[in-house]
Amino acid sequence: MIKIRRNILVPQVLDDRLAQLAELGEETNGILVCKPQQQGHLLNYETNALYVTALGTSHQVVASPTMMRMLNLFFQHNPQYHVVKWHTHCRGTGEEWFSKLSRGDIDHYQGHLEVNSFFIGMMVSPTQKILYGRGEISLEVVPTSPRFEREERVILQKLENAAIEVGYQGLPTFSTTARR
Ligand SMILES: [Zn+2]
Repeated sequence: MIKIRRNILVPQVLDDRLAQLAELGEETNGILVCKPQQQGHLLNYETNALYVTALGTSHQVVASPTMMRMLNLFFQHNPQYHVVKWHTHCRGTGEEWFSKLSRGDIDHYQGHLEVNSFFIGMMVSPTQKILYGRGEISLEVVPTSPRFEREERVILQKLENAAIEVGYQGLPTFSTTARR
């Protein structure tokens, strides 16, 4: 079991982006790319990039199989990074969903946890974030470091390389991913 406490450090600039995404009429999903740094019994996840993997409807969002292949390839090539998988319950989803996960969300996250006990999922709504994973997990918004932009660029470049490998012409943005 996971005894260690995990704390996700989200730079202010990325927290602002998540807040904007939660204000949309349609749900989105994506990843935070994090670099774990151990401090005694605390594992800090320094977040280096946010990437949107799909735009859905007001009640559902699913990334395409090609997108999933691209992400798997990226994490295979760059095992130093960990992922936090997020999705929004946005303005369009409705207020009754701002503070809870759906049955489908929980089943999906449980599926991930069965193959990877370190998995972390996160729901972002206009009013709150809910983290899902084993052990104690917290999230802290921190000032954007001067290194942030450079680190984010490096990761986006690596994602672009993975995109080319799976056959995308350049790195897809959420506006170009398949809707369903
Ligand atoms: Zn959900």
